[in-house]
Amino acid sequence: MNIVLFGPPGAGKGTQAKLICEKYFLNHLSTGDLLRKESSKETSLGIQIKNTINDGKLVSNETTIELIKQFINENKNNNKGFLFDGFPRNKKQAELLDHLMESINEKILCVILLNVNEDVLKERIMNRSTTEGRSDDNLETLSKRLHTYSSETEPLIEYYSSQNLVRKVHGTGEISDINQGISSHIEASLNA
Ligand code: UDP
Ligand code: MG
Repeated sequence: MNIVLFGPPGAGKGTQAKLICEKYFLNHLSTGDLLRKESSKETSLGIQIKNTINDGKLVSNETTIELIKQFINENKNNNKGFLFDGFPRNKKQAELLDHLMESINEKILCVILLNVNEDVLKERIMNRSTTEGRSDDNLETLSKRLHTYSSETEPLIEYYSSQNLVRKVHGTGEISDINQGISSHIEASLNA
């Protein structure tokens, strides 16, 4: 099975993705992580990615989909599905993902939407900035990331709703409770 984990920056996608991947034996595909790895290289592409991330904008569809294809190719034979963490982020990427899934005879089981209000997102990201040291975890970049989310990414809820794939989960509270909420949706989708 393949799942999309969806939600704004700071919603807890990374934390929940790890738990879900362990539980259901999925490959964790975080485009944010793949892009950060690429951006740590001193290449012109790496520098370009770093600047885009620090500006709170989306890295080009071309670069992002290339990293995804590579990851899928490297992992498609291990008999595990994929958990897409933080991808797709715009309509074009969602369409590309649909095509990509089709090409390997797969489909998306459901899109889990982690709902968290903006005050909590800000608080979490500012807390994280003191522990993880990510260059985009500061108030200025965060407000750009939130803007990018609402203008380019959030409209995908409509895209996936029209395919009846969206399952909403309340993203505040205990990590284990949120995880339970996600699991229930996954199991309901599997049994549908
Ligand atoms: N990013 C992107 N495309 C992706 C994933 C990430 O352009 O598919 C960039 C974007 O600049 C984003 C940053 O990487 O703000 C961090 O993304 P990540 O998913 O790690 O963090 P989140 O926004 O979920 O907190
Ligand atoms: Mg993340």
